[in-house]
Amino acid sequence: MGEKNRKNQNNEKNEKNKLWVGLTILIIALVIISALAIWLSQEKKEEDENTLAYTDLIKEISYGNVEKVEMTTGSTTVKVKMRNVEEEKTSIVPNTESFIDLIQTKVAEGNEIELIQKPRSIWIQIPTIILNLLPTIIMLALFIMIFKLQGLGEKGKVYEETERKTKVTFDDVAGLEEEKAEMIEIVDFLKKPEKYTKMGAKIPRGVLLYGKPGTGKTLIAKAIAGEANVPFISMSGSEFIEMFAGLGASRVRKLFEKARRLAPCIVFIDEIDAIGSRRTSNSGAETENNQTLNQLLVEMDGFSSEETIIVLAATNRPEMLDKALLRPGRFDRQITIPTPDLKGRLEILKIHSKEKKLSSDVNLESIAEDTAGFTGAELANILNEAAILATKNNHEEIENDDIEEAVKKVTVGLEKKERVISDKDKKLTAYHEAGHAVVSRYLPTQSNVKEVSIIPRGVAGGYTMYKTDEDKYYISKTEMKEKLIALLGGRAAEKLVLDDISTGASNDIEVATKIARDMVTKYGMSDKLGPIDFQGKEPYEIQMFGEDIGDKIGLEVKSLIDEAYNNAQKLLIEHRDKLDLIAQTLLKQEKVNEKEFEAFFRE
Ligand code: ADP
Ligand code: MG
Ligand code: ZN
Repeated sequence: MGEKNRKNQNNEKNEKNKLWVGLTILIIALVIISALAIWLSQEKKEEDENTLAYTDLIKEISYGNVEKVEMTTGSTTVKVKMRNVEEEKTSIVPNTESFIDLIQTKVAEGNEIELIQKPRSIWIQIPTIILNLLPTIIMLALFIMIFKLQGLGEKGKVYEETERKTKVTFDDVAGLEEEKAEMIEIVDFLKKPEKYTKMGAKIPRGVLLYGKPGTGKTLIAKAIAGEANVPFISMSGSEFIEMFAGLGASRVRKLFEKARRLAPCIVFIDEIDAIGSRRTSNSGAETENNQTLNQLLVEMDGFSSEETIIVLAATNRPEMLDKALLRPGRFDRQITIPTPDLKGRLEILKIHSKEKKLSSDVNLESIAEDTAGFTGAELANILNEAAILATKNNHEEIENDDIEEAVKKVTVGLEKKERVISDKDKKLTAYHEAGHAVVSRYLPTQSNVKEVSIIPRGVAGGYTMYKTDEDKYYISKTEMKEKLIALLGGRAAEKLVLDDISTGASNDIEVATKIARDMVTKYGMSDKLGPIDFQGKEPYEIQMFGEDIGDKIGLEVKSLIDEAYNNAQKLLIEHRDKLDLIAQTLLKQEKVNEKEFEAFFRE
């Protein structure tokens, strides 16, 4: 679920909670009033415990013993006064109208019965009124509530933004030590603005956080608010984009009105690229964007120096941003939030396993090693999946296997043990995966094999997992060429052993082609074409480099792929024994782990 959705949901959840609390109070109040009223009317009834059965009443009337009957409208309980008896009795009549008829006949016949009809007492009226009105009241309340909830769903009708103090602190943000250090100044400023203004110091206005989704941008923004103990007002850029012109701008205005009321505070604009992308074309949406963006710029420029509002914004597409946003006094500070390195990953895993029951066999260090390139959100997700798997597997605690399984689930998809595979397909998959594994074993730059499997996972028929290396910043040409060989090892093995090829290699081919194309057109790794960036260029732009430049690029990409495929084949022919050994083992036991795999190469 996207960050934006999550925030909206929080937003809506708060509102929903408020409404539910309202409804509950209403219902409780109604119940109390009804109970009170019923109790009070009951009280009245209990006073006259002296009752008279209806049949006896009729008898007494015909005997002429009844002197007075007192009725209350709408009530079937009547009071009866008999001649020569001090005490009044009560009686319940089955039907008031026919009872009145009866009395009137008796009176007409000459009986002296006094009939008194009293309006209902207020205490008897209340419960009846409430009971009559209760359905209406509840319906009305429900209508209002449904209407409000819908309004919240249809953003734009009811404008709400998240605003509350967060309990998130820097302790909840793992890794990112340098970034946190940079933020401490902002926290200090929010806490003691006078200190800075007295000094005449220029106050930071806006800080832009760059980083992939899930790297913790929102988290760190919240942590700043939490550390400074100030409100956190947030909105997502995409929420500003509205169908109706001007609405986005008015939302920005309202957002900052609120911020001024709550200052000192943090305003967080997620996905700022949605409003702040470069103002280029003149389509309707763009114009709306411009209005919204302009309003944002106006608001940020309009801060007076006493206003302690810091605007944080997040994006994963910095190149999209309008340069006007980056000018001094606006988002003049930019902080890149990187994907965590080994140490960062370990710390994130530690933080997120704090509230989980981990078995002592869990080795978070090795999990961190296996998850290079994973974001904080993905790591948190892995631990969550592991907890689910542990529950499914009836484990008392989360075991290392559960976590490793969760890593695989997140990377290659869930194991599908029940899928029925023909022996022919199994053999093909076994040789394909063994091909990858054996080839990469003989390539110096390629990572060690961690596991080979022919158990289908997600859409893949089998997989070869490598031990991930520590995050690299640069990849050499040799390494890329060897990566191509490893990728094509699967297809080469199929061809070599079965003299037929399958569709199972389609993903390998796709990845290999992309790498080869990047080598030629992006990284300038082709000697024939030189270090020129051809990517994202129109055909006429590429033609500036020569009429037949397109053909040359194609030929270079093809020759890289061909060379890699030949090399893969050569390696497999040379080490056919290992290929057979591993493929046969896979057919027998479906999986070969790192230790078993290495053992094949030792003798
Ligand atoms: P972003 O805003 O960059 O997309 P979030 O801040 O929403 O990412 O991160 C999503 C979740 O991932 C967080 O709520 C947290 O659980 C986890 N997470 C991400 N980075 C970290 C980190 N550095 N330390 C701890 N948890 C993290
Ligand atoms: Mg976010
Ligand atoms: Zn493959």
